[in-house]
Amino acid sequence: MFSFFTGNFLQDIVTNFRTSRLKPTNKRLHNCNLLNTILSIQSLSKRYGKIQAVNDLSFEVLQGQVFGLLGPNGSGKTTTLSIILDLVKSNKGSFSWFDSPPSKESRKRIGSVIESPNFFPYLTAYRNLQVVADIRDQDYDDIERVLKLTGLYERRNSKFKTYSFGMKQRLAIASALLGNPEVLILDEPTNGLDPQGIAQVRELIIKVAGLGMTIILASHLLDEVQKICTHVSVLNKGKKLFSGEVSKVLAISDSFELSSTDPDMLQKAISTHPLFQSFSETGLLLQVYFKGEVQPNEINSFLYQQGVVLTHLTERKRSLEQHFLELLEEKI
Ligand code: ATP
Repeated sequence: MFSFFTGNFLQDIVTNFRTSRLKPTNKRLHNCNLLNTILSIQSLSKRYGKIQAVNDLSFEVLQGQVFGLLGPNGSGKTTTLSIILDLVKSNKGSFSWFDSPPSKESRKRIGSVIESPNFFPYLTAYRNLQVVADIRDQDYDDIERVLKLTGLYERRNSKFKTYSFGMKQRLAIASALLGNPEVLILDEPTNGLDPQGIAQVRELIIKVAGLGMTIILASHLLDEVQKICTHVSVLNKGKKLFSGEVSKVLAISDSFELSSTDPDMLQKAISTHPLFQSFSETGLLLQVYFKGEVQPNEINSFLYQQGVVLTHLTERKRSLEQHFLELLEEKI
């Protein structure tokens, strides 16, 4: 939402509108002219007996995106991630990594944390990462980097069993980052963490995304997707309800608060807007609802052309949560 009072109001509207759309995003999204397709899923379906866990699911993830799979419990997020990691076989559909069929080679370019962290309790963090490197036939060169990146370097010689749950989760992410993969897949990365642990893991994900890594994460937390992701696919009962840029979803306008020196003329003029739906009056402010997405600068120039000079214009954006709930209501 943005708000201003008149001055050079036309300029203010445009400036405020532009400013309201600025959102921290992955550097690589800005730096790359041509974004490669990292993952492409076509009509994927998975059934467990009578349960349709994933239902005709298609979406694409491009290089540098932080892609959120958002849905309530049981909506098919883990099943989808398990299929694309070759842990579970789909019944129908296909997927490709890096524009090629999935292979051992493509798998090496992907790091993942799908289950809860599982390390040897009596070994140190450093030693546990050596074990992981041994299993994957990687050398130990990268261990120091991932420990520093995840903020665990100071505690590298502490035994795993002495770690907090948040540190255990960060160690799991460190192990997924060993060998510097191009893609990081995380399933509910902040589940069960306390607020400090949640903040640290979220900061870590944003930091890793800032390095240019493509991230795919499953979450049932709207807030998490809103804060971390650049793109989102909303799932319910295995079906995709919506997919797109998080910032676009947030930019869907719901209503505007308007006021003018001539309220009667404002009411008459705005009622003739092609997308006008209804209005209500609150004191001097007119709350106006539209049938679709309307830009604030467009409203301003529409009214100005009809001789109405605005003294106030506030856009009320729908939150992802409202949008998500609306989608669930409409499509269940
Ligand atoms: P959650 O966040 O609760 O893990 P989710 O969105 O990840 O949910 P999935 O774990 O993929 O959803 O589950 C989708 C559906 O498939 C659920 O109804 C679940 O009970 C079912 N399911 C998942 N795995 C199995 C399995 N191995 N056998 C039978 N049913 C399963």
